[in-house]
Amino acid sequence: MMFEEGQNMAKEFGAENVYDFSLGNPNVPAPERVRDTAVELLKNEDPLLLHGYMSNAGYPDVRKKVADSLNKRFNTAFNENNIMMTVGAAAGLNCALKALIDPGDEVLTFAPYFVEYKNYVANFDGVLNTVSTDHETFQPDLNALSEAVNKNTKALIINSPNNPTGVIYSEETIKGIAEVLEKKQKEYGTEIFIIADEPYRELVYTDAEVPYVTKYYDNTLVCYSFSKTLSLPGERIGYLVVPDEAADHEDLFTAVSIANRVMGCVNAPSLFQKVVAECLEEKADVAYYGRNRDKIYNALQSYGFKCVKPEGAFYLFIETPVDDKEFVQEAKKEHILVVPGTSFALGGFVRLAYCVSYETIENSLPGFKRLAEHYGLS
Ligand code: PLP
Repeated sequence: MMFEEGQNMAKEFGAENVYDFSLGNPNVPAPERVRDTAVELLKNEDPLLLHGYMSNAGYPDVRKKVADSLNKRFNTAFNENNIMMTVGAAAGLNCALKALIDPGDEVLTFAPYFVEYKNYVANFDGVLNTVSTDHETFQPDLNALSEAVNKNTKALIINSPNNPTGVIYSEETIKGIAEVLEKKQKEYGTEIFIIADEPYRELVYTDAEVPYVTKYYDNTLVCYSFSKTLSLPGERIGYLVVPDEAADHEDLFTAVSIANRVMGCVNAPSLFQKVVAECLEEKADVAYYGRNRDKIYNALQSYGFKCVKPEGAFYLFIETPVDDKEFVQEAKKEHILVVPGTSFALGGFVRLAYCVSYETIENSLPGFKRLAEHYGLS
């Protein structure tokens, strides 16, 4: 709805007069190597092989390259049998959930969270319950996690760098989560999985490390996507990691591969599997987002808005002086489009996506200033 609303407003008022911060659609182009590799493959590869079906989990040589790249960067020990190519993180998450949960099982996630988790869990008749975070830092509340886990809990979805808050979970936080879940696994005699949803892993603006979760907790599945790192959301390409350390990992790998097939998202796009295999250490211009982040964060702070300074992803989660939906309507009068926090299961905030042009940010600032004055912020 907001996608179309932005376009309609742009038609009515002129694109340069609408400040659409509602979508997490990357606005910096994919690295040149992506295009060059695609062109080269299209020119030189056998089209029947390049555009053909392959094994459910993806091309073995591509999976091997992904594993090698992860091992080099994160000191892991994966091989091609730990990697399944997916139709973006969305398909990876659905495959993981289909493999792990039965109807009625519970999945936990920290609020605020990416709204689709609820729909994905509902796809398999599971129940998504939320665990609170500290609203000053948006770091997970580990006591609340401990209280929320019960014998029906099959998985905890975590997302760092986070949509919608931009925070990164430190090593200490990941260790704390792992400790709670280890304890609960023992207490209930069950397996509880972490599903690490990581489309923003490479979008980091500080020297913060994003811990590789499989190194801290055995029962971890990682859902990765090239949508944001390589600015390829429409190409639908990512991968799922099933480490050897996970319980019943061979069965689990078979289960996610069959899930991929029976849900109809088998064969992650063949051309782009081959493209990303050659671009595993590339990333889009993260510095562009970093400049945007500094500009908008500093300006909003100076007008009196409150928000955590994001370390990664490309979102700000701003506290609203009134009900978030009311604020969204008021912002629209300034031609500013943001998403209410209630869409992320936390009212009283709005999400602003700063993957827009620097000029859009500059031009939106007088409107934000007027909003701040309207609400008497200082
Ligand atoms: N997870 C999170 C937290 C996201 O923000 C998104 C997309 O915005 C996705 C998953 C889905 O990503 P993909 O395009 O790879 O399916």
